[in-house]
Amino acid sequence: MNFIIAFLGACLGLIVAVIVIIVVIYLKVTKSVGKNGMREIIKTVKNANNYELEEYTRLKEVSGITKLIEPVIITDFTDFNKELLYSKVENNLIKIFNSIEDKTIANIQNDNDLIYIIPSLKEKIYDLKNNKVNIKYDEVKFHSHAIKNYLKEKGKATITISSSLEYYFSDDSKDKKFEGIKKQTRYTIEFAYVYDETKVENSENVLAISCPNCGAPLGKLGGGNCTYCGTYVEPINLKGWYMISYKEDY
Ligand SMILES: [Zn+2]
Repeated sequence: MNFIIAFLGACLGLIVAVIVIIVVIYLKVTKSVGKNGMREIIKTVKNANNYELEEYTRLKEVSGITKLIEPVIITDFTDFNKELLYSKVENNLIKIFNSIEDKTIANIQNDNDLIYIIPSLKEKIYDLKNNKVNIKYDEVKFHSHAIKNYLKEKGKATITISSSLEYYFSDDSKDKKFEGIKKQTRYTIEFAYVYDETKVENSENVLAISCPNCGAPLGKLGGGNCTYCGTYVEPINLKGWYMISYKEDY
């Protein structure tokens, strides 16, 4: 009997000691950071388990080695202007975001700048419509751009660009619901310049364009008659940098 009382007494003592220690720590921290500081700390701890949301507020660094790569590109393409390419990144991404928001490519269907992007964008919009998902990108602001990579082989040159930006993002799909959350993010964008069409490998469907009338792949870069619906497609001016892919990558 005495043993049980002694044991319970010891337990109680331990609990009291732990409470006292917690109170002392709380008071000490409150004293040093102030009441508002304490509230901030509690808020931060509560939010910390939502790592994804925390990550959205962190400004993303572009990853690139512009100074090293730019002179190499200029050796191959003397009129190369990186600022021009950066403004293409901004214009194209905004056009892409708008068409995802509106779930239609009506405004960009005949936009040569996006000729290689439209087929995959069509698929994405088709999926969004099917799943009744609404995505919004508001107040898009670009921070910086850098050249990440450059490759020139088999009749085609490719430049990879890293761009940091922010926007207010909404996505009402089931697994991830976001309502106008401010998101800091980064995109990797690829541009291609076909300088010798005869050397570009046929298997490379990344540069295939599709018929603006029926959507069938044309296969040829130089235009011609669509094998499915017969529509004549104007050959596009290939001597230029065209966006071939974009990807959020942070
Ligand atoms: Zn066609």
